[in-house]
Amino acid sequence: MTLTQAAKRREHILRAAVRRRLIDPENALLAGFVDLDGMAASVAALHAAFPASLPALHTFAAKANCLVPVLKELRTLGMGCEVASPGELAQALAAGFAPDRIVFDSPAKTRAELVHSLDLGIAVNADNFQELDRIDELIASRPSPSRLGVRINPQVGGGSIGAMSTATQTSKFGIALEDEGNRKRLLHAFQQRPWLTWLHAHVGSQGCPPDLIARGVAKAVDFADEVNAALGRRQVVGIDIGGGMPVNFASDETSPTYEAYVARLQKYAPGLFTGAYQVVTEFGRSLLAKNGFMAAYVEYTKSSGGRSIAITHAGAQVAVRTVFMPDSWPLRIGAHHPTGVTKSGELVEQDIAGPCCFAGDMVAEARPLPPLAPGDIVTLLDTGAYYFSTPFRYNSLPVPAVYGVRVDATGNVHFHLVRPAETTDQILAGSGA
Ligand SMILES: *Cc1c(COP(=O)(O)O)cnc(C)c1O
Repeated sequence: MTLTQAAKRREHILRAAVRRRLIDPENALLAGFVDLDGMAASVAALHAAFPASLPALHTFAAKANCLVPVLKELRTLGMGCEVASPGELAQALAAGFAPDRIVFDSPAKTRAELVHSLDLGIAVNADNFQELDRIDELIASRPSPSRLGVRINPQVGGGSIGAMSTATQTSKFGIALEDEGNRKRLLHAFQQRPWLTWLHAHVGSQGCPPDLIARGVAKAVDFADEVNAALGRRQVVGIDIGGGMPVNFASDETSPTYEAYVARLQKYAPGLFTGAYQVVTEFGRSLLAKNGFMAAYVEYTKSSGGRSIAITHAGAQVAVRTVFMPDSWPLRIGAHHPTGVTKSGELVEQDIAGPCCFAGDMVAEARPLPPLAPGDIVTLLDTGAYYFSTPFRYNSLPVPAVYGVRVDATGNVHFHLVRPAETTDQILAGSGA
């Protein structure tokens, strides 16, 4: 069996983690790893994909990986930060992002959250007409340096995962551009509000092809042109094109690339590249997913009704989407010896189960893998976004430790603790004890 470069690198990191007992069959049954070198390369690829002449602020969608040291690292790499809750806003501020490099996008912003953002100068995208009215009231008494925009739903349709599609006819997000009367109402909203200078569209996430996203962005650009033409002034100065670029969970290949996505944007939305508009992006999954993995011990193996099952320490508590929607969120699984060395041998179909007490707690079913044994390690690949950073508190299982990883030129692996594992005392405190 030949390993890809990426698989060799993961094995190298895993072996070092075992040697240093960052994962350990008694004390550290599960851990997450973020490849900081890989993350830097992904950020560089994003920046390089857009023409250097375009005034662009690339923000990272904090929900994809809200761990503050990771956000800090992204800041030093030149990213801004997109947030959608008071917790994420606090995380972005703790990571040191300047307020004018933070974008606040929640669909349910309270008055207090808006006041806080407007006072700090954080960019805000209003979700609906009522929120625009609310901002009117607030800024009447407090002039704000914030860039203020409104989110439209370009209604270009959904992708292959309904729950990830935000530009369907009936999506809960933004102002539905094609609904009867809404273009006129929006135009009027801009006319009435000189402070309203940005348009925002986030078409969807995983499952939405780049073409669909680019067509949604094109509608935002066209509408910006329409507003500016109708008002006879350049009121709309920027377009926030959201994130949502899909990730390939099937192999180590990065596809699509940012370059390919920008080519789609150039085809469908050439107006974005004329320099007439500033641009903000909000990518999450595509920056982090392939730069993270989890490692978990196999505790037991058994056979039931003819099925081979490996019971591991990674389940729904760190892979909630995969467990509840296995067809939409398949994960690749690696099989390793207790040393971290990749297992080889004849492939046998095995169910990879988690520790949670419900029958569906499986991260893979009937997966052909070398036979697993107690004490072996499984890796869950491409889990740097929306997995270990977004735990589910089922069965009061502890939130696992996460390490940032760098490999130097001589092959030495450097680990930085990003988040310690949750202790039993913390679990007790969190449950009202
Ligand atoms: C979730 C989200 C993003 C990031 O989406 P990814 O698929 O992780 O790139 C960006 N913008 C908004 C408004 C979001 O809700």
